[in-house]
Amino acid sequence: MLPLAEAQRRVLAALTPLPPETVPLREAAGRILREAVKAPFDLPRFDNSAMDGYAARSADLRTASSKEPVTLRQARSLAAGQSRGGRLPPGACARIFTGAPLPPGADAVVMQEDAAMAPGCPESVSFCAPARPGENVRRRGEDARKGSLLLAAGQRLTAGRIALLGAIGRRTVRVGRRPRVALLATGSELREAGEPLGPGQIYESNRGALAVLARQAGALPLLMPLVKDEPKATRRALARAFAGADLVVTSGGVSVGDLDLVKSAFGELGGQLVFWKVAIRPGKPFVFGLWQGRPLFGLPGSPASAFVTFLLLVRPALARLQGAADCALPARPGVLAEPLRNHGDRAHFARVRCDAGQVRLAGAQGSHLFGSLARANGLVEVPPRTSLATGAEVAVISWD
Ligand code: AMP
Ligand code: MG
Repeated sequence: MLPLAEAQRRVLAALTPLPPETVPLREAAGRILREAVKAPFDLPRFDNSAMDGYAARSADLRTASSKEPVTLRQARSLAAGQSRGGRLPPGACARIFTGAPLPPGADAVVMQEDAAMAPGCPESVSFCAPARPGENVRRRGEDARKGSLLLAAGQRLTAGRIALLGAIGRRTVRVGRRPRVALLATGSELREAGEPLGPGQIYESNRGALAVLARQAGALPLLMPLVKDEPKATRRALARAFAGADLVVTSGGVSVGDLDLVKSAFGELGGQLVFWKVAIRPGKPFVFGLWQGRPLFGLPGSPASAFVTFLLLVRPALARLQGAADCALPARPGVLAEPLRNHGDRAHFARVRCDAGQVRLAGAQGSHLFGSLARANGLVEVPPRTSLATGAEVAVISWD
């Protein structure tokens, strides 16, 4: 039985990123950048005004005070989008608006609130205070110098990074292809929503939940038909799934009592088992294998087990397949509002609710229970034979 960290390491080591593709920037949100992006020009591209006001030479305003205002001639007016024009002569100022290029010679912008049109003389402006050189000026290249690295490959494209790519005029961007993940549910007891339930039958619920987690991780989920607990049906379903997907995720049929159908069918197809069983609760009977280089993730069928093992072991793999530099799970800090105890010998991933940083169990923790899964917004790892006291600081693994 592998410790989780070792299982995660082996999964990531077995995988290489899928080839990149070029997509329009407006469709790139959430994707993994697969190129290093350098600044094609200085950003900002030119010195410009941070305010509506007056561009001036700070030297001209050195002596300005409310007692003895300095009056400058307004030589011109500059709106955003205009070119900066010729040199501003000494003793002159320019009316300027936010984003407009600073005229050569000017080195400061005075807010219009701190300047006044001289009465009866609209061509003159008086200033009651000195201006610091550089005041209210957005400097050329202060954000990035031409040729400098803006974004490294492997980063997820967030709204802010899309803004940066927009600012350098990118229309397309190279990103990791979205992995196609086939989702299979095995179990002769399973029925599709809308079908009547016979004795002993239940509705299938894992594929829907895993599809949400897959999409959140940037993958394209493919929901495959239900699979009966029969060797031939399982073999066929796996073959069909691998034919149209970059990776296959099954649920159910991996625990010992379950005839072990997924593992044996996978072996009969020529798949290589990499490991079976991870020292976690829920989710111990997890299976990982490779079929012609493509991964199989065999998750236990219980709803919480499938959910937790997908997060802990499939989600990092999806990040790796897209070329992410950091495949770690998103986690935020929290403080326990009640103790968490684990008397067992496997790491427990408790389904918790974290509200304003206060962490409580989301409910009873049985792997068959939907209530705590529905309430939970995080997982907290409680190591084997360990009690975490009220007030303990914990990392809350989160997904939405
Ligand atoms: P298994 O891992 O196949 O032994 O299944 C463990 C438990 O989870 C059993 O109670 C199954 O009925 C249930 N189960 C398995 N797969 C699903 C599924 N896709 N949706 C809902 N329950 C499931
Ligand atoms: Mg089953």
